[in-house]
Formats: sequence, structure tokens, C-alpha cells
Amino acid sequence: MSTVYLIHFEKPYQHAKHYLGFTTDLTARIADHRAGVGSRLLQAVNNAGIKWTVAGTWSGNRKFERQLKRRKETPALCPLCIGDAAYKRARKAEKPSLTPVRAAPSSAVIERDLPF
Ligand SMILES: [Zn+2]
Repeated sequence: MSTVYLIHFEKPYQHAKHYLGFTTDLTARIADHRAGVGSRLLQAVNNAGIKWTVAGTWSGNRKFERQLKRRKETPALCPLCIGDAAYKRARKAEKPSLTPVRAAPSSAVIERDLPF
């Protein structure tokens, strides 16, 4: 069985905050990454002293890994970043509205008894 896995970095390394990989032996692959073997990015991340964790795994093949990579929205896939991604999407969608939230209450209209 093959696994697509997502590694989340505790803090960004240059512009990278995640590593998306594919393996047929997740335990061995993660041990390699811990030892700085198999990925230059993770080697650099280790050397920079940045902590990382496996944030998600999917049962899938290399094609699925490429599909996920092509989406270029890894933070949205990451359970540890999903709140940030949702927040940014919400902020982007937020546009100032010119419509008043509610009309002035009718009691604000001052009615006078006219003297005639
Ligand atoms: Zn993340």
C-alpha cells in the first residue's frame, strides 16, 4: 500500500512550510527524513533546527501526490494550517458593503402634532 504524506514545518524554511511526499513505507520514509536522507528540503529544515511533524496521510499513489502538489494549496490540506487557510479565504472574500445593515428604526422619525 502506498501513502501520500504531508509534513508540516513548525516555522517556514525560506518559503516552504510543508513537504508533500509519497512512499510505500511511511515509517521507514519518516525515519529517513528524520536522519536527513531522501529529501534535500527536509535535510535543510533539519539543519536549520526547524521541528516538523507528519500532519496528514492519504492512501494514494504517485499520481495522487502530483494531483495534490498541482493544487498549490497545501496549507488548505494541512490539518495544522486549515484554520489559517480558512481565515485568509474569508478575509479575501470580505468586501466592504455599502448597504446599511438595517434601516433606521421608524421610531426615529419624529412625528409632531401640528398646531392646525
Ligand atoms: Zn501546515
